[in-house]
Amino acid sequence: MYSIVSTAIIHGIQSVPISVEADVSDGLPVFEMVGFLASEVQEAKERVRTALKNCGFALPPKHITINFTPANIRKSGSGFDLPVAVAVLTAFGYIRQEMVREYFVAGEVGLNGKVQPVNGILPMVAEAKERGMKKCMVPWENAGEAALVSDMQVFAVKNLADAVNILNGNGEYFDTPYNIEEMQTGRILDFADVSGQVLVKRACETAVSGMHNLLFVGPPGAGKTMIAERIPGILPSLNTKERMELSKIYSVCGLLEHKRGLMQERPFRAPHHTITPQGLAGGGAVPKPGEISLAHKGILFLDELTEFQRETLEILRQPMEEKKICIARLNASYEYPADFMLVAAMNPCKCGYYPDMQRCTCTSAAIDRYLRKVSRPLLDRIDICVEVPQVRFRDLYNTGKSEKSEEIRARVVRTQEIQKMRYRGENFCFNSHIPSSRIFEYCKLDKKQEIYMEQMYDKLNLTARTYHKILRVARTLADMDESEQIKMSHLNEALCYRNIDKKFWEGMD
Ligand SMILES: [Zn+2]
Repeated sequence: MYSIVSTAIIHGIQSVPISVEADVSDGLPVFEMVGFLASEVQEAKERVRTALKNCGFALPPKHITINFTPANIRKSGSGFDLPVAVAVLTAFGYIRQEMVREYFVAGEVGLNGKVQPVNGILPMVAEAKERGMKKCMVPWENAGEAALVSDMQVFAVKNLADAVNILNGNGEYFDTPYNIEEMQTGRILDFADVSGQVLVKRACETAVSGMHNLLFVGPPGAGKTMIAERIPGILPSLNTKERMELSKIYSVCGLLEHKRGLMQERPFRAPHHTITPQGLAGGGAVPKPGEISLAHKGILFLDELTEFQRETLEILRQPMEEKKICIARLNASYEYPADFMLVAAMNPCKCGYYPDMQRCTCTSAAIDRYLRKVSRPLLDRIDICVEVPQVRFRDLYNTGKSEKSEEIRARVVRTQEIQKMRYRGENFCFNSHIPSSRIFEYCKLDKKQEIYMEQMYDKLNLTARTYHKILRVARTLADMDESEQIKMSHLNEALCYRNIDKKFWEGMD
């Protein structure tokens, strides 16, 4: 007897359809599995055989062959147990093949026959629906995630007996337990809680408006983290497509919160400085997205930037340019989305008080060594650098007057709309992404401004790269003012952000 079951494997964050075929024939009683399998998939054989026996399904001594197609894709992960079990049961006549044909099946099976959750259910079920399937059988714990895919009947199973019952027509499908549009969002951290720091808040708004990467430099206790974690709250809300894309990434990592529906808020990821390059970029034996992909469409916050391994920070260069990361492995290469805004924070020196020479206890060589830990190529990708001073005493008591995140966000939305209109038809949509070759087309200066910038170029020792950064930021500042023409005030403010970078890193390369 022959059977076939439809399942899938996750490649990057995409789901690739896989068929599991079973054939039972007379001959030597062996159970063999073929089709380019990773070791954990080979082990499914033992798990499934034991689980079937423990659940009371007697398998006569026959020759069982399981084949996974297409053969050219390496199969990894533990989600094949349930499809293999279903294929075997069908081949032995416990289930009718015409019933099985309608289902997408995925799940891990324990030795006692209990079905365990697997990662990546959301992209798998979404892809199965695109192929025209209308029913899916998934582990009970993953049912909420599968139910996020509309027009798909979700059959949740706790054990093998449930699976057999359902496939014999004796099961009910799982109703979506929530209305996605009415999901409650959690409390968003508000800028209204931040006293003083007017210039820093202005820098945050500017950065977010044009999606410029941002660096905070300041002494310990100045509130750099407190400010950074409020940045997602001034970004425009995620649209449905972005929410689905982001939710797929979290699903593949097993981080999609059960019963919470699609991701509602932009992520804020703050990995510790001890993170490994792989933790940041993604990868591993069973490949998973890393922190930069979990920060997709949101903020990647690197606190204590100088404490990160240089090798780890170097990984950021490709995704900061390409908005995705490619990971090459022996058997395959993967691509994960990584379109994040980088916000980094650091002390200006080891003790934290430079350039306040009254308090700083570092030697100039030590300061130099400290600042050099941040590589020039990384700094070049950060458009806005701002000093975060310690809050002045009177600002601490200046409560109740700070602007709410909601108000700031309304302005950011408007500024981003202006950019989307201007760059429609281009392959970029924010000022920070204007390619160097197009800078002078989109950031036009008048004669007077050109002369001024020429003087500044020499005076501030600018390079072509830093000059372009200034123009991109000035473009954003003009858009915030709803001015098509960049004005002198915009150039001057953009120069200020560059000045801080210069103050610390002057003469270093
Ligand atoms: Zn110091």
